[in-house]
Amino acid sequence: MTENINTIYEDINNKLKRSGYRLTPQRQVTVETLIENNNELLIAEEIFIKVKNRNPSIGLATVYRTLDMLQELDIVKKIPYRDGMSRFDLVKSSNEYQTFYLLCQNCGKIEEIQEPILTDTEKRIEQEYRFKIMTRQLTFHGICQKCLKKEGYRSGE
Ligand SMILES: [Zn+2]
Repeated sequence: MTENINTIYEDINNKLKRSGYRLTPQRQVTVETLIENNNELLIAEEIFIKVKNRNPSIGLATVYRTLDMLQELDIVKKIPYRDGMSRFDLVKSSNEYQTFYLLCQNCGKIEEIQEPILTDTEKRIEQEYRFKIMTRQLTFHGICQKCLKKEGYRSGE
């Protein structure tokens, strides 16, 4: 699950270059912040606060624009959240990373998991439909462990 930070950073940098974008200092700080907080799903304001800690001269609009750009390039994913504030998640560049989300329909918590559960299915799809899968987005809806305990849900119901 641990991927070298420099590798991720280089991948993103290359993707930007290929798309004709420059990695400006503002973008660079935003990307670094996203990589460092890769294990958390943050809202735009939280990302902005972290970016500002590293470079106080960067404004909110710049961070928003950078997030928009990164989203267009499929570098980050915007995940709709129950409270109406979307969270941002870095897209794993390599296809071997299969990221899924577990969304608790009771408390709204989203957990990110990385499991190669679709490997066989994807191989079959690529062969049968002659379709090259680049990314995937899959969210399981259910009840989280905490809510299961608290609310006395029982499995199999
Ligand atoms: Zn829950």
